[in-house]
Amino acid sequence: MHAKRQERIIKPQPAHLKSNKTSPNQKTCNSRVKSACPILGKCLTKSLVYNAEITPTDTHEFMNYIGVTAGTFKERFNNHTKSLNNLACSNETELSKYAWNLKRQNRQYNIRWSIVNCVPACYEVQQGKNTEKKN
Ligand SMILES: [Zn+2]
Repeated sequence: MHAKRQERIIKPQPAHLKSNKTSPNQKTCNSRVKSACPILGKCLTKSLVYNAEITPTDTHEFMNYIGVTAGTFKERFNNHTKSLNNLACSNETELSKYAWNLKRQNRQYNIRWSIVNCVPACYEVQQGKNTEKKN
């Protein structure tokens, strides 16, 4: 068998197909795949109270983490992802502490994100660290 080499011809793209970055609609999600959106297509929602329910896969116990952000959910989510994947940031939030505790025991977990409430933009003073401590 002799495999024929195929030449690939790359055609120049017509100009009108190149970019449509400026969408007239207010986007609520910038996830590439909508089904991969952490919060049901609403990840660009701003100024909100959100909840993360973290459940180890081997039990029914779970922990709820409530957070507030003045930015978009996505920005906050990306920070959480960083602290959940980065040992150096593992003490950043109660959520990451909890998750890392599970990881140290080789336990898997799921996190379900949801929006609890949208808050007015004047709430922005609350932005930043969630200092609420659990006893
Ligand atoms: Zn999204």
